[in-house]
Amino acid sequence: MASLRTKKLSLSGWGRYPHADTLAFRPERRPDVPACLPGLDGSVIARGAGRSYGDQALNGGGTTILTERLDRMISFDPETGRLVTEPGVTFASLLDVFLPRGYLTPVSPGTSYATLGGAIANDVHGKNHDRMGSFGDYVAWVELLLPSGETKRVSEQEDAALFRATIGGAGLTGIITCLAVDLMRVPSNAVDLTERRVADLDQFIALLAEARTNSTYSVGWIDALAKGRELGRGILETAELSATPIAAKPRRQLGVPFNFPRMALNSLSVRAFNQLYYNRVPAAGRQRHTGIAEFLYPLDAIANWNKIYGKPGFSQFQCVLPDATAPVGLRKMLEAVSAAGAASFLAVLKTLGRQGRGMLSFPMPGFTLALDFPRRRGTDALLAELERLTLESGGRIYIAKDSALSADGMAEMYPELSAFRMVLSEIDPNRQIGSDQARRLRLRA
Ligand SMILES: Cc1cc2nc3c(=O)[nH]c(=O)nc-3n(C[C@H](O)[C@H](O)[C@H](O)COP(=O)(O)OP(=O)(O)OC[C@H]3O[C@@H](n4cnc5c(N)ncnc54)[C@H](O)[C@@H]3O)c2cc1C
Repeated sequence: MASLRTKKLSLSGWGRYPHADTLAFRPERRPDVPACLPGLDGSVIARGAGRSYGDQALNGGGTTILTERLDRMISFDPETGRLVTEPGVTFASLLDVFLPRGYLTPVSPGTSYATLGGAIANDVHGKNHDRMGSFGDYVAWVELLLPSGETKRVSEQEDAALFRATIGGAGLTGIITCLAVDLMRVPSNAVDLTERRVADLDQFIALLAEARTNSTYSVGWIDALAKGRELGRGILETAELSATPIAAKPRRQLGVPFNFPRMALNSLSVRAFNQLYYNRVPAAGRQRHTGIAEFLYPLDAIANWNKIYGKPGFSQFQCVLPDATAPVGLRKMLEAVSAAGAASFLAVLKTLGRQGRGMLSFPMPGFTLALDFPRRRGTDALLAELERLTLESGGRIYIAKDSALSADGMAEMYPELSAFRMVLSEIDPNRQIGSDQARRLRLRA
């Protein structure tokens, strides 16, 4: 039981805002996990790599189970690609072990440091959502430690409601202690990448819509400070898996060694950075043969890039707007950001395909926009305005990234919230699992 020592920690998400004090357990082995459940008088939440941005993996005044040591891969079937593994395994470990053998997760988020437990809890999507759907689509089953102390295997066949509540369920249905996920075969470790400049929002929407059918991967980087005729300009990247391998590079990271001073980040410095990024790609565009990892995880090249926003941290906002309302809705959002002079580095614009199978899965067919805002006066007002615009367009906000959404907004955006709450009432009547986000968004009845 030496591994069950507890520690008081002050934790935050990747945005470094907000913070919460918690009692943390770091179990070394799966059999240790049940002993981390609190009694009836406290609440617990699992935490993976802390790559969700806001208060989702925070449990102020409660208990947190740190899952990073639960990182054993248990079995792999090369015929079917099925991997059985513990939840603390990261996408980076999967790359190290499986890419040289010709396998990849069909879906990956934009950082390789997220864990598979975290990927299930947010039903994460990648740059190929139109083609491949979200992470939960490839999860065959999960082993859940329920608040009752019972461990249960859950799948579409064995308790479909609990399974659908767990995919994208923000960690609230129990602690995932083991899971089975299907990897796909890839022809090499490389992609053929095409980069081109995009003049404005209308062109971006048209090109992304085209990429849905013509490209396996697509992602847009927008200069969120551009105004007027240049509103929504940026770089579009599309990519195809390549059969020609590339010499594997050791994973190297530049670091941000300290918090940037508040003054360093203003709209002038961000404008200059965004301009440089835009000009990086020649006017005629370019094609490159590059590593899958470099393409999927460009931000991982800079360790702790979240310190760029200084000590107060930052909030990320990500929404999806339906195809029909996106052109007008996105324009209004970019105008609001630009008018506020909110110093957002490159914003990300992508398309999403089908609705995910989790009750609270974020994806729906449409366009998704992600923006970062340093925490300062005016940030909350801007986030409230973006929530209003999301609702006006019939869209929804991604709770993996969120620290500001209102509970009413959540209920309006996620039509299956009441079904989700019913599952929680059944499996956790004493509210033993909880997070700051669940309380803020009233994810329980
Ligand atoms: C640079 C960057 C890029 C990103 N790009 C994308 C993207 O392209 N697409 C996308 O969808 N997301 C993206 N994300 C968000 C990220 O993928 C998700 O927030 C993911 O859930 C983080 O996983 P984690 O292991 O860090 O989980 P944490 O942040 O630690 O926790 C997130 C949730 O998972 C739950 N959880 C973790 N482990 C378990 C477990 N064992 N059992 C039960 N619940 C558990 C927690 O309770 C919490 O609710 C990005 C994040 C960053 C920092």
